[in-house]
Amino acid sequence: MLAVKILQEQGIEVIGITYTTPFFGSSKAEEAAKQLGIDLKIIDLTEAHLDVVKLPKHGYGRFVNPCIDCHALMIRKAGDLLEELSAHFISTGEVLGQRPKSQNYRALRLVEEESGYPGLVVRPLSGKLLPPTIPEKEGWIDREKLLDISGRSRKRQMALAEYYGIKEYPSPAGGCLLTEQVFAIRLKDVMNTQENWGVNEVELLKVGRHLRLSPKTKLIVGRNQEENKRLEMLAKPEDLLIRAAAFKGPTAILRGPAEEREDFIKQAAAITARYGKGKEEEELEMKYYHPSGPVQKIIVKPARDEEIKPLLIN
Ligand code: SF4
Repeated sequence: MLAVKILQEQGIEVIGITYTTPFFGSSKAEEAAKQLGIDLKIIDLTEAHLDVVKLPKHGYGRFVNPCIDCHALMIRKAGDLLEELSAHFISTGEVLGQRPKSQNYRALRLVEEESGYPGLVVRPLSGKLLPPTIPEKEGWIDREKLLDISGRSRKRQMALAEYYGIKEYPSPAGGCLLTEQVFAIRLKDVMNTQENWGVNEVELLKVGRHLRLSPKTKLIVGRNQEENKRLEMLAKPEDLLIRAAAFKGPTAILRGPAEEREDFIKQAAAITARYGKGKEEEELEMKYYHPSGPVQKIIVKPARDEEIKPLLIN
């Protein structure tokens, strides 16, 4: 938001660009664009971003956040739109040194080079501390009016926000699931156990309790009605859905290769039974079925917490 304001002060027209993937959405950018009164393009970056998350050239940050590759990808996509939007350069709100790994001097240079638009990436908040860009050399923007903010403190940014009358702005952290600890543990588990994973697997990670029954088979148990419905929607034809036959309780997905699925039905049903109303019963009838297949039944003894604990992925 501040970068936009700094450019606008120089009489430059700004078009906002934001991205969506299963790991983050566009709501904060939409709110910001509304406050700034600028047009905003929202681009679905899912496929290209998943490739970067799976194999980041420059590695991960603290969790599974491939921030350097992610920034480069976002800038590349923005650059690819220059002609279509009759725009001349790309600008970001990055601040030198704000993030030790992904926004140090080397990382900012790397992001620019890897984006494929070297010389065309202006960072108005730290511009004076970075090499002059083409827009500065060409006189499209005045380098003297760019700022020299660096480091982790946000004091100057907060003062600037006040100066520009920006009252509401997002907190520095948050918004990307790849930087959240529990999500990262779950995603790493998927990365370590599955070769082909995509949007469905990522969406599944946002729902329920996840339990690893074997290197290839996992169980996901809903925690409330909303999650139960979501699990039913996310179940693939080859998955098994499990529920109590008579008592109220969660829906669970048993996902794994066909050859070992049968081996885990009893255990998965017993775990699912533990989280339902019938958990105190000595024995409980559970049903299981493929999303559009016939219902089968099995009698189980609800699992004990000490049996479940070591299986939880969190
Ligand atoms: S925190 Fe998430 S969205 Fe932001 S740069 Fe890193 S990976 Fe990309």
